[in-house]
Amino acid sequence: MKQRLLDALNNCPADYAEIRFETTDNTGFAYRGKELDNASTGQFTGGIVRACKNGGWGSCVFDTLDELKSKVADACAAATTVGKEKTALAEIAVPADQVFTAQLKNDFRGVSLDEKVALVGKYNDIVLNAVPGVESSTVMYGENFRTVHFASTRGNYFMEERPRILLYLVAIARNGSQVQRGSESFSSATDFTVVLNREDKAREVAERAVALLKAPQCPGGRHHVILRPDFTGVFAHEAFGHLSEADFLYENPQMRELMTIGRQMGNNDLNIIDDGSLGQLIGTHHVDDEGTPTQKTMLIANGVLAGHLHSLETAGKMGAKPTGNARAIGRGRPPIVRMTNTYVDAGTLSKDELFAGVDDGIYACGMQGGQTMMEMFTFSAAYGYRIKNGQVTDLLRDIVLTGNVFETLHNIDGIANDLTMFELGGGCGKGGQSPLPVTFGGPHIRLRDAVIGGQQ
Ligand SMILES: [Zn+2]
Repeated sequence: MKQRLLDALNNCPADYAEIRFETTDNTGFAYRGKELDNASTGQFTGGIVRACKNGGWGSCVFDTLDELKSKVADACAAATTVGKEKTALAEIAVPADQVFTAQLKNDFRGVSLDEKVALVGKYNDIVLNAVPGVESSTVMYGENFRTVHFASTRGNYFMEERPRILLYLVAIARNGSQVQRGSESFSSATDFTVVLNREDKAREVAERAVALLKAPQCPGGRHHVILRPDFTGVFAHEAFGHLSEADFLYENPQMRELMTIGRQMGNNDLNIIDDGSLGQLIGTHHVDDEGTPTQKTMLIANGVLAGHLHSLETAGKMGAKPTGNARAIGRGRPPIVRMTNTYVDAGTLSKDELFAGVDDGIYACGMQGGQTMMEMFTFSAAYGYRIKNGQVTDLLRDIVLTGNVFETLHNIDGIANDLTMFELGGGCGKGGQSPLPVTFGGPHIRLRDAVIGGQQ
């Protein structure tokens, strides 16, 4: 494969060109209510040639490796039509030949489809029947195994296997016009057992959906808020991480100013990190989709803005080093600047010390959904609790945290030492490429005077 790709790129007239080719095996099915629907399995192959000439990009998407040289020529011709400036792609030192096979602890490919359907059907029964009041369910299983080959005119080649499995458990409860949902999801790049023994979680989502029907709405106004690690992680990714992506910054001079390296972003104990080389998480790869090795990038170090996330092109244009964050969702799609595993680093307080500092506040758990508009964000917690005298008390629904990300980062006045990373279903969406596997995480963090939407 390596030689075939490199031969096709030989004598290419562009300043730079690359071929990415992949094979993906997919299996997925879902229960919705009592019905099993949407079961599918299949293998897909395809790829993309990208070429850059005088700063302009051209691409050619293909299904088979036949006549690859003419596809390279098409991409180069397209790039030549577009290019009007100087090509500025950062240099990277990478070995000529890299092969990364998946290191699976428990291989999902060895388990029959019947077994998987029976397992997921059992969870669905629990979600639907564990407690009275659940109206419907969505219980979904998915797995895919991508094998990615890449070569560029710089002479480098890699092959990387990228497996993933995931499980969603969702319960829907209704009382008149009010609808509440309980959900959990699990994902792994290495281990089929992540979807086993989830009966307790299936029961938990059903119980929570029903309990939320009776829970009071969270009062609006300014509150001291403690974010559970899963909410901390989504906040780090959604509210801050996307602002760190250099393609976005390059196109938004105003945001580039606000995201200047060296700017004070919070207290000295605040560290936010993106690390595509971390462990074997679903956001982890050896190399990104331009062949750049992944790395640990400090976005905020000791409260100060320390770095941005880059592709070859954004690094070249902004005079920075590539960070291994050029990622594509699959065959036929170009890599764009994306996060990998993004988290707030652990602080020094215990969780108890963090809660002891709150006489009257809100504990925000899980993430239901949200929106960001530049530095402004609005996120809904899946559920939460009132905090009284440092103790977690009554369940609350409709917790909507809103505000300006820079102000909110400054309002973090306590960071616990219980950093947790989350590998969940779904993923990140950007530029029409969704869901990209990412993880996020953090410890419990405490916000002073955060804005909660809704009636006071
Ligand atoms: Zn995202």
